[in-house]
Amino acid sequence: MSQIRKITLTENEIPRQWYNIVADMPNKPLPPLHPGTKEPIGPEMLTPLFPMELIKQEVTGDTWVDIPEEVRDVYKIWRPTPMYRAYGLEKALGTSSKIYYKYEGVSPAGSHKPNTAVPQAYYNKQEGVKRITTETGAGQWGSALSFACQLFGIECEVYMVRVSYEGKPYRKILMNTWGANVYPSPSDRTESGRKILAQDPNSPGSLGIAISEAVELAMQDEQTKYALGSVLNHVLMHQTVIGLESIKQLEKAGDMPDIVVAPFGGGSNFAGIAFPFLRYNLTEGKTIRCIAAEPASCPKLTRGEFRYDLGDTVGMTPLLPMYTLGHNFVPAPIHAGGLRYHGAGAIVSQLLKDGLIEAQSLKQLECFESGILFARTEGIVPAPEATHAIATVIREAKQADEAGEPKTILFNLCGHGHFDMGAYEQYLSGKLVEHEVTQEEISASLAELDTPVIACV
Ligand SMILES: *Cc1c(COP(=O)(O)O)cnc(C)c1O
Repeated sequence: MSQIRKITLTENEIPRQWYNIVADMPNKPLPPLHPGTKEPIGPEMLTPLFPMELIKQEVTGDTWVDIPEEVRDVYKIWRPTPMYRAYGLEKALGTSSKIYYKYEGVSPAGSHKPNTAVPQAYYNKQEGVKRITTETGAGQWGSALSFACQLFGIECEVYMVRVSYEGKPYRKILMNTWGANVYPSPSDRTESGRKILAQDPNSPGSLGIAISEAVELAMQDEQTKYALGSVLNHVLMHQTVIGLESIKQLEKAGDMPDIVVAPFGGGSNFAGIAFPFLRYNLTEGKTIRCIAAEPASCPKLTRGEFRYDLGDTVGMTPLLPMYTLGHNFVPAPIHAGGLRYHGAGAIVSQLLKDGLIEAQSLKQLECFESGILFARTEGIVPAPEATHAIATVIREAKQADEAGEPKTILFNLCGHGHFDMGAYEQYLSGKLVEHEVTQEEISASLAELDTPVIACV
């Protein structure tokens, strides 16, 4: 019998609604707080930053939210995305477990990020917004938003962490190609940027600083709004198209996963693939394990604290309830740039605290080794972020074999690594070094926070 390697869906099977896990959570996420008064903020506090429809989605208790037809039409450029059975990897591992992966690298920007960039640009356009500001680290979010803004005729202004701006010129050119203006952050265009530059003229920048710059500009101008590529509830919800399609694809293969794995930066691609499966746990008593894979150099889920913290460095955002390493934490410059954020989203943090999801941390050499094995057995070169999921899958498959209990494992291959050849070059030439943050560094960063601890790991 011939093998079914790629499981595809038709355009008609692109989901018509996003899934909002908040509706099914036993404990709802805690509210955001005003950074000054520390009182819960109402939706109206967010109106300078986001269009009304996204604010509604941020706080909705509805289980399902309709995807506008205009957004579905754009999704059709790359959705439904393919799912593969990883026969090559399974064979190389000699495992009895079944491994599937959902491939989000087929989007124009090469990652899962356009799944939320497109609806965010759409709702901004609906409400007459002229310009969107944002930050980007490695450049994946900036390129996704540049693409989406161009489609809907909105100006896009991207603050790109300076080290990446200098080190990843092709990501910047991709954004320029889609018509965006890109500035290295910290810049002298904002008060936040000037403040950081006054302290350190050679600041390499960080995501937290770039967020401060983008938010500041949106606050100052009525026609300008801000967009975030992860962490927030509405962003995680938009990504659930990944898991909803995966369910249909696995149904076609006659399978259901025992384990779902995704890399973890702020939580959006993890939520995207895992939440629709977690729904079966929450509503039907299933016991699918959902594992978030984070880097050992930025381990907020496995070594951080659950407490209120700022989303940015300067203090322009509300306090969010999150597993965090502290908003001043500057992770080592590992190659999985998309995973170098100090905190996790409120929903994911609550789920972790309640023991409904799991987290593992991994060092980058194990990840790259797994990524190379994947490229050589499955053909696709994974984004460095995605290699964290692959390494976790390999660990789980080996454990299942040792226990003599083969599992069905699904993971999110959230992007390709075509813009990350510098990292692969370093690994292949033996120059890639290991990074693991020390307990002293974590404790020192958390000691700078003045909010009470809700839970420790
Ligand atoms: C942005 C990004 C991540 C990390 O962000 P999440 O919100 O946790 O998904 C991971 N992988 C890729 C390819 C990314 O672009």
